[in-house]
Amino acid sequence: MKILVINCGSSSLKFQLIDSDSEQVICKGLCERIGIDGSRIVYTPEGKDKITIETPMPDHNKAIELVIEALTNKENGVVSLDEIGAVGHRIVHGGEKFTKSVVINDEVIKAIEDVSDLAPLHNPANLIGIKACQKAMPGVPMVAVFDTAFHQTMPENAYLYGLHYSYYEKYGIRRYGFHGTSHSYVSKRAAEILGKDIKDLKLIVCHLGNGASISAVKNGECVDTSMGLTPLEGLIMGTRTGDIDPSVVEFIMKKENLSVAEVNNVLNKKSGVFGLSNELSSDFRDLEDGYVAGNAGAKRAVDAFSYRVVKYIGAYTAAMGGVDAICFTAGVGENSGFVRKIICDGLGFIGASVNDEANTVRGKEQIISSADSKVTLMVVPTNEELAIARDTYALCK
Ligand code: AMP
Repeated sequence: MKILVINCGSSSLKFQLIDSDSEQVICKGLCERIGIDGSRIVYTPEGKDKITIETPMPDHNKAIELVIEALTNKENGVVSLDEIGAVGHRIVHGGEKFTKSVVINDEVIKAIEDVSDLAPLHNPANLIGIKACQKAMPGVPMVAVFDTAFHQTMPENAYLYGLHYSYYEKYGIRRYGFHGTSHSYVSKRAAEILGKDIKDLKLIVCHLGNGASISAVKNGECVDTSMGLTPLEGLIMGTRTGDIDPSVVEFIMKKENLSVAEVNNVLNKKSGVFGLSNELSSDFRDLEDGYVAGNAGAKRAVDAFSYRVVKYIGAYTAAMGGVDAICFTAGVGENSGFVRKIICDGLGFIGASVNDEANTVRGKEQIISSADSKVTLMVVPTNEELAIARDTYALCK
């Protein structure tokens, strides 16, 4: 079956067409600047060069129309419309309602709408994507795959904040966690690579990308994760603060005369390694170059980022009563031996040691610990689209 995977943002739409039998990507692409001037669709059919079409995209309905046209047109198309057997949608927030992927129906749409106030930037965009696909492909089954679902196994002591309990009861304020599809995929794949049953493993997954999160996966279930009610909590990220004292918000607002929206923008867009490096860059390739060249801001940012990861690994080792393997994934985790080395060098306390030669790997599955390391260190590239396609196929075959 050919599965269309859709990841819909407020002004963008990423897509992949995946063959569920071979698990090959038949076409992948991106619609950018939806609803904004200068919109375009960029896509690469399997075995062909990248195609870019600059064209107006006033809304997501038009974007989906263009995706279907790209997939099915005579010249460069890869399928006919009736060959698309199902659509898998990445949904950011499933609240407490969704503990796994589900076939989309009216009730599911209503439930996604109901938790939209927990992810006001993401869930409405995800819903627009679902509705646009339903319009363009009536009768084709659709599946919702939630970023939060994998983390729903967390125990109460891990997901509750030290807030008055009534806020949880009234508004559902708690830790939900994100990147769940990635944490789930990587932990399962790590067990396969290690040739062990995931039910016998204590794993820590470090998803280090522009957004970054870390999770403790014990016996195949998530028992803790660093992102919270929103994806702002936890690790220091590309432009997001991660953990800070909540009083900082009021302090900055008063000192700089900022509104709530403005300070939110500071915390989400102007902070993280970008802010710490005095706006040198949010991209670790630039920061790595800066670090090597002796740039103080780059060193400050990368060292603070790495220290936070090590601190969480210590906490999650305690939470699970030990750790068998630590997995690095996403843009930085898969590609930056430099950052992995700084992190791994901080893990001597659990007997972990890195093999410098193996650690030069980029974007490939690889054990990077040395033979005498007490904990396995490994690079496991994530594949959220494939995980979404697998769930979609499993529910629609
Ligand atoms: P992601 O959010 O998973 O797509 O990761 C994107 C981030 O990965 C970029 O912003 C870079 O910071 C980082 N990245 C990608 N490639 C490399 C690389 N070769 N070396 C270091 N960092 C990289």
